[in-house]
Amino acid sequence: MAETALYRRYRSQSFDELVGQDHITKTLQSAIRSGRIAHAYLFVGPRGTGKTSAARILAKCLCCEKGPTPDPCLECSFCKRIADGSLGDVMEMDAASEAGVEEVRQNIVQRAQYAPMEARYRIFIIDEVHDLSQRGFDALLKTIEEPPANVVFILATTEQHKVPITIRSRCQRYEFRRGSLEEIESRLKYVCEKEGIEYEDDALRTIARLSDGGYRDALTLLEQAHLAVGGKLTRDEVLTQLGLVGENSMDDLLRRIAEGQVGPILEAATALVQQGKEPKAIVESLALRLNELTHALYLGKHAGATKEEVALAKEIGPHRILAFQEALAHSMRDIRDVTLPRVWLELTLVKLSAAGEPTAEAAPGVEEPLAAQSPAKRDERPAAPRKEPPPAEPPKASPSAEDANPKEPGQLWEQVKERLTNRFSASKQLLGASFGVAIEDKALIVGFKNRFLFERLQGKLPKVEGIIAEMVSEVVGEPGWAVRFQLQQENGGKAATQEVDSSVVEGDDLVREVQSVFQVEKDA
Ligand SMILES: [Zn+2]
Repeated sequence: MAETALYRRYRSQSFDELVGQDHITKTLQSAIRSGRIAHAYLFVGPRGTGKTSAARILAKCLCCEKGPTPDPCLECSFCKRIADGSLGDVMEMDAASEAGVEEVRQNIVQRAQYAPMEARYRIFIIDEVHDLSQRGFDALLKTIEEPPANVVFILATTEQHKVPITIRSRCQRYEFRRGSLEEIESRLKYVCEKEGIEYEDDALRTIARLSDGGYRDALTLLEQAHLAVGGKLTRDEVLTQLGLVGENSMDDLLRRIAEGQVGPILEAATALVQQGKEPKAIVESLALRLNELTHALYLGKHAGATKEEVALAKEIGPHRILAFQEALAHSMRDIRDVTLPRVWLELTLVKLSAAGEPTAEAAPGVEEPLAAQSPAKRDERPAAPRKEPPPAEPPKASPSAEDANPKEPGQLWEQVKERLTNRFSASKQLLGASFGVAIEDKALIVGFKNRFLFERLQGKLPKVEGIIAEMVSEVVGEPGWAVRFQLQQENGGKAATQEVDSSVVEGDDLVREVQSVFQVEKDA
């Protein structure tokens, strides 16, 4: 998605304006205040979360006439020229288009040898740094290893695992996170009010959901919808303008699918196609709606769900919602190869309704295992019984919850987990693979062994962090606690291996749990 006028106009100019990244701005500002300026920074995070904006702000902090300062004046010639990209001492480079060793030598290595021309520092901002070639990295490494005085590197990447460890280890690393639904919504509201765009709250919530936590994508979608609609933004119009289908039609279709009556399903599909909806858009809208219902089911009003949505989600039920999503994810994988879209649409919908059927394998009165709901899965592993996870061991060091020390990370996390499990029963297996690592300031650091799980928890649902942080505060009996998740490798992680909880859920069971609790699309 290209940058848009709206996005450029509302690009953050100072740390105060940088939304949703307080953990980063506070640390950076206090470092600048105390004169601790690193030679190299690595900004890591999903697209559109403000990495490049933060890099420019940091450049202003360092170069401002009144600086180095955590609050650049934005008025002096340096601040202004950094904002419009015309200050020669601050160089921006996109590694995606200038990846070769020659570019790195000419643009960076050679220039870095000279003192800054006008400003206090010479600053190199390298976007998408993971795209540099191996030899490009080698050339860069030498300069980063022995940086000339007054040279600062700010590297930004969406894929830090592709950045060689030799480079990473020489950088101060900052992790940008996706915005929560609320944060994105409130940013959208702010922009709408500034721009005089009329809106219904529902419309902005839908845009926030579609943007998947990226501020840039959210503003791009807003602009697209605004230009197309002209007047007041409503949810249905947003969906229509983006080619998607409104929720009433989707809910109706979903009910028919849940009832499993093929005739009514085909009638509804035909009606939508006759209204001019693309089969692909219908399937995508269905995926979006199922995602919303999952949130409604597990987070309720915390996810901004309405009473009607919660009721519909309960009516369809968690097992069928999950089965529909699995079947849908399967269909969407073939989306590019479809030659007869309408036939594909009908087939997909009919398959969905079959996926929701209870199967003969489920004993009456017994909660049916999730695996039994997907016909595809059943065929692949006909006789394999679902592996039950080992029972969770009681926390080793705490004889009882009462006299446990809540300030000890392992015990604190055990107590929080207990509360979480009481509230969201499905989170039990999910959290089995986690353990308290450390307490830093007022933050509990929680380690995860499983990368898949960790990334889902980090990226997909910042809301979860909020809920868990609240519980940590409750257990400690002191407001304002935070929780941070870390990936801990089995070997060489920060925590000793024996600290790892033994009730680790592995493989398919874990994947299913994650999908059922926090996640929608299948990790294809
Ligand atoms: Zn200034």
